[in-house]
Amino acid sequence: MEGHDVVLIGSGHNALVTAAYLARAGHDVIVLERNDRPGGLCRTEELTLPGFRHDVYSASHPLLLAGPVMRELGDELGARGLTYLNTDLPTGVSFSDGRTAVLPRSMDAMVAEADRLAAGDGATFAAWMESFAPYAPDVFGLFTQDLAEPDARATIDRLFSGDGPGLTPLASTVFETGRREVSRFRSPVLQAMLAPWVMHLGRTPDEVGSGIWVILVALAIMQAGMPTPAGGSEALTTALARLVTDHGGKVVTGTEVSGILVENGRAVGVRTDEGERYAAREAVVASTNVDQLYLRLLGEDASEELRAQAAGYRYGRGCLQIHLALREPPRWPDPRFARVGQPHFTTGLDGCTLAAAQGMAGLLPAEPTFTVDCPTAQDPSRAPDGAAIMRVQVLEMPCHPHGDAAGEIEVGDGTWTPELTARMAERVLGIVAQHVPNIPDAVIGQAVVTPDDIARFNPNCGPGDPYGGASDLAQAYLLHAMPGQPGHRTPVEGLYQVGAGTWPGHGVNGNSGYIVAHQLLAS
Ligand SMILES: Cc1cc2nc3c(=O)[nH]c(=O)nc-3n(C[C@H](O)[C@H](O)[C@H](O)COP(=O)(O)OP(=O)(O)OC[C@H]3O[C@@H](n4cnc5c(N)ncnc54)[C@H](O)[C@@H]3O)c2cc1C
Repeated sequence: MEGHDVVLIGSGHNALVTAAYLARAGHDVIVLERNDRPGGLCRTEELTLPGFRHDVYSASHPLLLAGPVMRELGDELGARGLTYLNTDLPTGVSFSDGRTAVLPRSMDAMVAEADRLAAGDGATFAAWMESFAPYAPDVFGLFTQDLAEPDARATIDRLFSGDGPGLTPLASTVFETGRREVSRFRSPVLQAMLAPWVMHLGRTPDEVGSGIWVILVALAIMQAGMPTPAGGSEALTTALARLVTDHGGKVVTGTEVSGILVENGRAVGVRTDEGERYAAREAVVASTNVDQLYLRLLGEDASEELRAQAAGYRYGRGCLQIHLALREPPRWPDPRFARVGQPHFTTGLDGCTLAAAQGMAGLLPAEPTFTVDCPTAQDPSRAPDGAAIMRVQVLEMPCHPHGDAAGEIEVGDGTWTPELTARMAERVLGIVAQHVPNIPDAVIGQAVVTPDDIARFNPNCGPGDPYGGASDLAQAYLLHAMPGQPGHRTPVEGLYQVGAGTWPGHGVNGNSGYIVAHQLLAS
């Protein structure tokens, strides 16, 4: 049996981050991936036409740039081809009635933009950011701590314990809705530029607990912008995989792990669906959610109680991602949008929450709010000369729709058939056309990624949830589906868990990979 110090299951960016830290420190690591290339949801392909390089799933990585992985490994990844392209206008919003706004990274410019939208909103925005400033280091620090460890408990205590008998004002922010957070602004345009971002955190603006994410996203993108790797999202995981192999590690693709070998309560290796076995001298790191980990990979080696808890793990809404090849760049509703990383197109905050409610009720949203980005604005190399690519990301989508809120589309049994996919894409592109007048004329190629596609590509997405698990309050923070395992260490000695289904959750941030790497390096 082939043996290594650490065996990693899955090659999402978090697993590669763990593998890279360990390999650099001299550990012998192997990463086993079921797909044909490493990288998980960081994947760049000519999906539509030759020469048009689309990010099939994730595209922008602001949370990674705001975190420690790039600070610590950035130079080594840069030497392996990773360069980030960025913008001074990370987001914006376009209303169907023609009103637009942008969010600049510079506070002065942001205050001026907010005042342009409604006099006084500039000062309100600055005061809002200022009020959070004392908490920001601890809150962002928590993203790199295992919530079950004493140092995280100390951070949580500092954040919530006030000087008197009560809690700090931050505590109530944690239970606030996104809608109430933005109700401090007079401008509905500013409200609708900020609140829909909680959809990218798996929440909705009317959901209890979404409020704090409005301010966290605003802070994070003002700090980090909307960076995308030159050449596409996969450049990150390509560089990480090179870092692993340059330090003697192995990355093996086309290999599905079907079980974890446990001896005397300790994880000692894995077996694959081809019957191969890989021994792990120090640890097994699973980049899988708890349902796969406990129900499939551990099976009888996990207690009945753990399996019952894992069976309760819940997934959230799905995602429809439309990729367009354009013969020319989009004609934006606001010329500043040529520099905007990822703007939302919307009818406003009420329209956004209505569409989210429709999606949560299992209905195709009648008029969704979504982001539209054009990576070629920053990276012309991703399309032939003069041409462009566009990504439309709709997050209010049920994984298996059982009706249409507009009463127009027949959904059948909820499978994303070519017919259903084409009709929903047509609805979304009809909305895009209201904002971008050269759509659909400029479209020369189109590919749509449905929740069914996402589910087939990655078991960590369950039925097609791009974020690998529901993020509502009852399954967030320390309220994990596995009350006995809120952190990255599992009850099985030597078995660790990383990835979107672990703290601090989904998104290309690298933080769970960072946390587990440091736990292993310290052990
Ligand atoms: C359509 C879409 C758009 C997104 N856009 C963005 C975005 O723009 N910005 C952003 O920050 N985030 C975005 N996300 C979310 C982000 O991509 C994910 O949260 C993140 O990539 C998850 O990383 P991970 O480390 O958990 O691993 P994953 O990317 O989930 O990869 C896990 C890997 O493990 C493999 N695996 C699982 N089980 C096994 C097994 N038993 N054996 C072998 N291999 C196995 C899988 O095949 C997969 O390759 C998007 C997601 C989707 C689906």
